[in-house]
Amino acid sequence: MSATFMGMPAFPEAARAATGDAQLRHNLRKATRTIRDKRAAVVEELDDWAGLRAAGAAIKNRTLRHLDTYLERLEEAVTAAGGTVHWAADAAEANAVVTDLVRATGHDEVVKVKSMATQEIELNEALAEAGITAYETDLAELIVQLGDDTPSHILVPAIHRNRSEIREIFRAKMAEWGVPAPDGLTDDPRALAEAARTHLREKFLTTRVAVSGANFAVADTGTMVVLESEGNGRMCLTLPETLISVVGIEKIVPTWADLEVFLQLLPRSSTGERMNPYTSTWTGVTPGDGPQEFHLVLLDNGRTDTLADQVGRQALRCIRCSACLNICPVYERTGGHAYGSVYPGPIGAILTPQLRGTASEIDASLPYASSLCGACYEVCPVAIDIPEVLVHLRERVTEGGGHAAERTAMAAAGWVLEDRRRLTLAQRAAAKARGLVPRRLPGPGAAWTDTRDVPDIPAESFRDQWRRRESGAPGRNERKKRGGRR
Ligand code: SF4
Repeated sequence: MSATFMGMPAFPEAARAATGDAQLRHNLRKATRTIRDKRAAVVEELDDWAGLRAAGAAIKNRTLRHLDTYLERLEEAVTAAGGTVHWAADAAEANAVVTDLVRATGHDEVVKVKSMATQEIELNEALAEAGITAYETDLAELIVQLGDDTPSHILVPAIHRNRSEIREIFRAKMAEWGVPAPDGLTDDPRALAEAARTHLREKFLTTRVAVSGANFAVADTGTMVVLESEGNGRMCLTLPETLISVVGIEKIVPTWADLEVFLQLLPRSSTGERMNPYTSTWTGVTPGDGPQEFHLVLLDNGRTDTLADQVGRQALRCIRCSACLNICPVYERTGGHAYGSVYPGPIGAILTPQLRGTASEIDASLPYASSLCGACYEVCPVAIDIPEVLVHLRERVTEGGGHAAERTAMAAAGWVLEDRRRLTLAQRAAAKARGLVPRRLPGPGAAWTDTRDVPDIPAESFRDQWRRRESGAPGRNERKKRGGRR
């Protein structure tokens, strides 16, 4: 299971509220279009982008096919390098492992470098319950944490906030968490960055335990890899005495040569840069250099179930670049909160219902949070056919329950369509009653006809028309022309 944002309604309701927020729509449109244009420009520069994309998809597919082998190889390499590997089947296990590890250090504070896996399992909340405070150190995550907010984008969790909102959050909340915002803080980006730097520096210099995620884990050498823009991640990874990395089992790549492909795909697809400013790698422990204790928590939490689904498993190829979010017309209008989970946008619409199942109203609504335009598939650097998985999951939702009226209508349609004679009778009945069909359906059907035209029912079915033509009998229009009966 992964975290549900508390109190979130199903997507259609949340989306309705979000699209009514003009400021939010403005912030989202500005940010997504800027990143989208940058991405398109740097992707265009490469002649072999299609080949790289195919290579990325192939490496991930191969790795997922032999995941057990590569995970064992990773465990051996991490252990040989002086680290300790822990296996966590679900969020509760992972949280318990990390909490115990932090407690064992004797400290009650941790710094964190951006990790979606820890958000997925709600680690901060679990640590807080155990009396341990977690400080987010990625700038956008810091804004979300100080604002008592939830992330709304994979790459830019505070994308829904503009500069003046961020200034207000810093002024109101920084003092509660450590070094306060300077007097007279403006909304100039440099001033905001400097305020965050000063605030965070104290955390880096005083906190002895760090928790991180990883973009990739190289099985051959047991190396974790984090790509970032600010350098805050590197401070987290190098300054503390103990480092605990919580990593989804799908993050594995077999070799450094495989990693090379993703180091080209990820920065261009996420920030629209040829290369991200900071790429940090760490392998076990090195005496006298960096953290002296390293723990790797390998997280399943629904991933092996996802792997068992032949269509849905491609979602595990995701490298969390966020290109699908930035291109998605639905995401651009609703923002990430409407998806009700840490994974928003098109990837969230296919990953969340697989990790959490489709039993809840919000998870059952996610496969429908798309127009199926296919833009997400076009930009995905590992060629995940998101529309295909969406349709597949819609099928699962319908089979597993869905709306009662929809279920009844589908069952009736199935009964008619499976027998030729029933279909013929239904078509004739529909042709006779065509004048009675309203342009707007009553009750819940109105939601459909408010945005679509009810198709005209033909006066004669194709089969009847064929039979009549074969017999040489005149059609309705010909009879009219000849002045015959209507
Ligand atoms: S699904 Fe593809 S485009 Fe979307 S975040 Fe994952 S890798 Fe990027």
